[in-house]
Amino acid sequence: MNKTGIFGGTFDPVHKGHILTAKKLVEIRKLDKLIFIPCNISPHKTDKSATAAVHRLEMLKLAVQNHPEFDFTDYEIQKGDISYTLNTLEHFSKIYNKIELVIGYDNLVSFHTWREPDKILELADLIVMKRNTDSAIKPLNKYFGKANFVETPVIDVSSTEIRARLKNNSPISDLVPPEVEKYIIENKLYL
Ligand code: ATP
Repeated sequence: MNKTGIFGGTFDPVHKGHILTAKKLVEIRKLDKLIFIPCNISPHKTDKSATAAVHRLEMLKLAVQNHPEFDFTDYEIQKGDISYTLNTLEHFSKIYNKIELVIGYDNLVSFHTWREPDKILELADLIVMKRNTDSAIKPLNKYFGKANFVETPVIDVSSTEIRARLKNNSPISDLVPPEVEKYIIENKLYL
């Protein structure tokens, strides 16, 4: 049966941590494709203003364009307002018959605070990628028992770090795909 991965985030900006781990994840989980979905407003980041959606989406397009196993949609951006994963899954579960929801370990730690996590798990299997924090996995909420952990490489980079580096004029070439770096420079983002 075809399996479709859904990978949501703010992607402000998308970076190699997203791309390299997701590539490995597609291979390990044997996904038909992985759909990147940039949020309009993250429920977890309503106190901070993100970069305009049009820029986040454009960078994502550039980052996924040469990877046939990746796709993206502006579904949440077009919908507007706060982007809840439950609503997105309700929509995509009408289109795809088997969905794997892909999150990083940091999001598993806070998964119990998401809107209706039990309903989310009725619509999708939960797949968790490693980040730097999870060398020893200790169950921190009941969703640890329902998660499928994948041995993706640990790429210790975050969008926060990239934004900070750009503010300080530090190089980011090793942290984002070259097309994304070019776009950031041309559009004078994160200054
Ligand atoms: P920020 O630093 O702004 O919070 P972020 O780098 O965590 O951003 P998001 O766009 O919030 O990036 O992340 C989208 C999804 O990708 C989340 O599920 C997050 O856990 C996961 N993720 C982000 N960076 C990595 C990474 N380096 N390795 C594995 N998963 C990651």
